[in-house]
Amino acid sequence: MRLHLWPDGSDSHPREIAAFLDGSLTNPRAVLMAVDDRGAAVGFAELSIRPYVDGCDTDHVAYLEGWYVDPDHRRRGVGRALVGAAEAWARAQGSTEFGSDTLLDNDLSAAAHRALGFEETEQIRYFRKVLGAEPASGDESRGRADGLDDLMAARRGHFVMESGLHADTWLDLEPLFADARCIDPYVASLAGLLRRHDLDAVCGALVGGAFLAQLIARALGTDFWFTELLPAQDAGVLTRRYRLPRSFASRAAGKRVAIVDDVMSAGSALRGTYAALATEGTVPVVAAALRVLGTKGTSFFSERGVAVETLARRAFEMWTPAECPLCGRGEPIDRISGA
Ligand SMILES: [Zn+2]
Repeated sequence: MRLHLWPDGSDSHPREIAAFLDGSLTNPRAVLMAVDDRGAAVGFAELSIRPYVDGCDTDHVAYLEGWYVDPDHRRRGVGRALVGAAEAWARAQGSTEFGSDTLLDNDLSAAAHRALGFEETEQIRYFRKVLGAEPASGDESRGRADGLDDLMAARRGHFVMESGLHADTWLDLEPLFADARCIDPYVASLAGLLRRHDLDAVCGALVGGAFLAQLIARALGTDFWFTELLPAQDAGVLTRRYRLPRSFASRAAGKRVAIVDDVMSAGSALRGTYAALATEGTVPVVAAALRVLGTKGTSFFSERGVAVETLARRAFEMWTPAECPLCGRGEPIDRISGA
């Protein structure tokens, strides 16, 4: 049936099916099969969770990657039953949106989607260009996040992040701010994304977030604020507290503010800054980072109706100390500072 739906993939279907069954394939995340009274397969649905879908608002969108019913068994509710089961699966994954797509000229599929309660969001045309070697003077032709990896040196090990969560990767961010010429293009790109939010101020937590906030505020011509970490806190997960200095707090009420950080993983500093601003009567309208790692931070903000802007998203695993597989193997914690 997969071959009927995707004839181009004839070579890869056996390999992908084997990989899915042995658990090494993460997309699709789930496959639903429809069977007749005798147990013969008559249709299927393949499902994934996508962090970004055009026309959707959340970053954990259940997605109908494939949907097929054998022609002899159509118009009997098989497709509807598959989508109903898919929606139940999606809810169980914590998704509040369910996405799908079809080709522009596939009116039959479009009608089937509408009949099941999907609303059409956007029409997209895909383009393709074969990329040769990078041009010699590449600056103008580079994407907005290209080169960011070189500025954020990744270390492998066993780390405790500010949030108290554990991770196996650490990004050294200090070099980002050492040379303005390195970071300027990314500041300009992120400022460009923030401009449409009509901001009064840009706020970042000391230290890295505030450095970036000041550069972006300057690019946008808005006020610059910072928050500072409050001392004497317990070592739990996501318990760090920040405050807005009095001089900013006195004029914070009612302002449209962006909160920024160099990198958002769990978003501890951004969450703390969000809470500090809310205390002063300011509700941030957007949270931004040069790079977003994983979905823990973005989920926090999307649940609160705060937009998230970034130049690059990457998958990233974080664990509570109790869940951490590195702790489970007894691996010592790596110290973060070079001292
Ligand atoms: Zn650990």
